[in-house]
Order: sequence, then structure tokens, then C-alpha cells
Amino acid sequence: MPLSEDLKELYQKVILDHSRSPRNQGQFSADSCVHIHSDNPSCGDEIDLYIRFNEDGSISDIKFEGQGCAISQASASMMTEKVKGIPRQEVLQLIQDLQHTVLGNGEVRSSGTLGELQLLEGIQKFPQRIKCALLGWRGLERALYSAKLT
Ligand code: ZN
Repeated sequence: MPLSEDLKELYQKVILDHSRSPRNQGQFSADSCVHIHSDNPSCGDEIDLYIRFNEDGSISDIKFEGQGCAISQASASMMTEKVKGIPRQEVLQLIQDLQHTVLGNGEVRSSGTLGELQLLEGIQKFPQRIKCALLGWRGLERALYSAKLT
């Protein structure tokens, strides 16, 4: 679905806003979180995620540090705002839906809950940026599978 002019403008605004003032910047002490480093050598993006989990496997808190292009940092920033406190299964579904949205394939099951993440479908037009947009999300997915569930 092509983006209307209004959406294009909104897309640029949201990406710019998040890349200029990333949310949830920083880290937690190593013994209190799961730390995942991801990089995307083709663009020079790096993202370090610091995630604290609740006993039920949901995310109690998340921070990130990174460098690289605006898309990679904005997407990670939007992610940290979205995933706190929601059940683990829903986060996994969100990651899958986000990938479908960015890649423009597959069925997006929770489209109603993507919110401003829906704007990332604008990335479809810039295939070389897809890895950038998904970098933080793939890191989060790895963290979810590596976290010990008690
Ligand atoms: Zn990038």
C-alpha cells in the first residue's frame, strides 16, 4: 500500500523525532539484565540492548545504546517504548508483525496495536534500509529466546 503524502510527512517526522531524541537511552548493570549486541556492518549500525525481565518472561524494563543511521536508532527507540510490560507472546507476535510490515509480506495479525510502528512500512521503498529498521527488533528476539524463564 503506497503511503499518502500526509503519511509520508508523518513518517519523516516520527523517524526524525526518535533519532534526534531517542527514548530509553542508557544501560543497566550487567548482573541485572540481559545484554544483547547487534550490528549491521553494511550500514555501520550498532545497537546494544539492556533488558530486564519479569518472572513471567515479560519485559519489565529496557534501555538501549547505539550508533548508526537515523532509521536504525529511531526504530530501536520506538521499540523500547512499545514492548515494556506486555506478555512475552505478544512481544514475539509484535516482532513478527513488524518484520512483515517492513518487508511488505505475510499477514500482520496485530495491526491494530502497532500504532506509530505502522509507519515503518514506508521502509519497503528503501530495501537497503530494511536491515537497519529491523536491527533492534532482531536483537530483542534473540534476548527473548535467551532469557531464562523461571
Ligand atoms: Zn542503517
